[in-house]
Amino acid sequence: MLKSLLVANRGEIACRIFRTARRLGIRTIAVFSDADAGARHVRAADEALRIGPAAARDSYLDAARIIAAARAAGAEAIHPGYGFLSENAQFAQHCAEAGLIFVGPPARSIAAMGSKILAKTRMRERGVPVLQGYAGEQQDLAFLERAARGAGLPLIVKPAAGGGGKGMQIIREESQIVAALATARRLAEGAFGDGALLLERYLSGPRHIEVQIFADAHGHFVHLGDRDCSTQRRHQKLIEEAPAPGVPDEVRARMREAALIVAREIGYVGAGTVEFLFDGAEFFFMEMNTRLQVEHTVTEEVTGLDLVEWQLRVASGEPLPLAQDQIRLDGHAIEARVCAEDPERGFLPSAGTLALLEWPRMRDVRVDAGFATGDVVPDSYDSLLGKVIAWAPARADAAARLARALTHTYSAGIRTNEHWLARVLESPVFLEVRHNIALLDQGAAEFSRPPGCSAEALILAALVARPPAPDPRAALSPWDLGDAFTPNRPALLDVRLTHGGLSHAVELEFRRGAPVRARQGGAVTQLADLAVEAATVAARIGQRRVHARYFAQGARVFVWLGAEACEFTLDDPRTREFTTTAAPGGLTSPLPGVVVAVPVGLGQVVVAGEVLMVIEAMKMEHAITAPHAGSVAAIHFGKGERVPEGAALLDLTPAAGG
Ligand code: ADP
Repeated sequence: MLKSLLVANRGEIACRIFRTARRLGIRTIAVFSDADAGARHVRAADEALRIGPAAARDSYLDAARIIAAARAAGAEAIHPGYGFLSENAQFAQHCAEAGLIFVGPPARSIAAMGSKILAKTRMRERGVPVLQGYAGEQQDLAFLERAARGAGLPLIVKPAAGGGGKGMQIIREESQIVAALATARRLAEGAFGDGALLLERYLSGPRHIEVQIFADAHGHFVHLGDRDCSTQRRHQKLIEEAPAPGVPDEVRARMREAALIVAREIGYVGAGTVEFLFDGAEFFFMEMNTRLQVEHTVTEEVTGLDLVEWQLRVASGEPLPLAQDQIRLDGHAIEARVCAEDPERGFLPSAGTLALLEWPRMRDVRVDAGFATGDVVPDSYDSLLGKVIAWAPARADAAARLARALTHTYSAGIRTNEHWLARVLESPVFLEVRHNIALLDQGAAEFSRPPGCSAEALILAALVARPPAPDPRAALSPWDLGDAFTPNRPALLDVRLTHGGLSHAVELEFRRGAPVRARQGGAVTQLADLAVEAATVAARIGQRRVHARYFAQGARVFVWLGAEACEFTLDDPRTREFTTTAAPGGLTSPLPGVVVAVPVGLGQVVVAGEVLMVIEAMKMEHAITAPHAGSVAAIHFGKGERVPEGAALLDLTPAAGG
């Protein structure tokens, strides 16, 4: 077994790898950028080395600095996690040359999957089903245009060197072919330095199903079952589960077999994932990820195995711990990715200090987190805060348990998506496995709408949000004036709270400093036994005894009552906050970020909906599109420049007559 391990990553995955390494008695070494000096993963390791400034290309993506850190710390091996350098064949090669063990496949296996064109061609030759289209060497746009016309629509154009869904364009009509190819080419060159494109038949609403495989350096290959990752937003997975539900046994068996063919074909070693699209009848090879996946946890929960331990054993030359017939799958596991993003504001990433982030503690619920209360979420990296994973014997119970765990995740300070995820998990479309990769993009609004809050939650919010309790002994409490000398007369207090855009008025009546009645929406409710602690509030409201978690920050009050999670804003002019509203699709920047592409030039005539600029923040791309036809009159930011929120990006002169 290895003696020391450097993890070239951050956040939850670095913490998760350290956990296993520690258990195996391996010395752990973290690396961090300036943005992460106080990060949780730094504290989770035996030692930590600074590798550079916040920008990922100067820190977590800088192979030379990471190898130097490994040398300085005397590390024997490097685990790349996912993202960053994990699928960089050159980095794997550099590690080998520096005498360091790269915890991952050999550089040649990574390279074999680096080009979607080469990977697709090779797998088709091995009899693995792939989608029709064009994946070849001819790359001039005129040729690709003819190929697109010949292939039939709809089509998807993908950068061959792509990843993270970047640069992909969907062509539904003939008239879009030329523009889509040109845009994809520009975006591919900008993002990957390689403009090669492939075309394939576009499936409307397929499911994303993948197979976890494992191989050792002694020629053993096994699969650890499949996962469904169809619950995606803009091609980013949000909810993943194992096993994939509703797949006929015969299809499942062929898919697992195909995954093993892919792995064998490229001489794979270590943990890998072969991804397929499933159209309800047939499956098609999409790509292989040559690393540990974010969603490896659901496979761990149904197999009872530690995949990181397997990776470390394989990396130190041991054979796979189990043979195929010793691997058993039990029950159902579902994972939700809790991210710093705002479902009510177009999923804009959110960064800053987590005033509160308390993860659920429940039976059969696992939490892999990189952040907790008090941590700062930098805006330089992705928005994943942590993952909540629930296991149960049956899928419906796992979904219910996970939804419950998410509503018992308490966060405040920055915007997070756990309640939105809970609503997706509770939706009939997810529970009945009628979902597919298009669900959240087409119907996101349905889940984004926070449901109304209960009267109890509203009254509790009013009780904890109000100014200090009216104490009859404090003679001149400003709002209690007039009652001070007649302590038996009731005191009334109006609290105005906004929830989900609706304003609510609650009138609280006090006697001897204790609330006795609440009037709200025409109803009168008796109150008794109020007990407000630092984080919890209990009271009798009408006939019900309630106990809730709460958190108050500035004008915001959060109440978690049973399965309900409500956020209120205290409507008090003294604490009213200045809020900006983003104009998605407008010509101002909806968030702070970096310009990654400006596919138009000065004076260029554009049609409505055309991409004018692409901004990246927290690893997500936001396209700024033309709200109307016109010509580009000014471009205020160039590629690589940082833009603040609300900055004017371009000027567009409307087309004459349009
Ligand atoms: P990347 O490597 O950039 O992540 P992929 O090829 O893995 O790109 O595709 C990412 C996502 O795009 C898939 O998970 C799926 O949601 C969607 N997608 C890819 N190819 C197709 C296709 N032919 N038809 C429909 N959706 C597709």
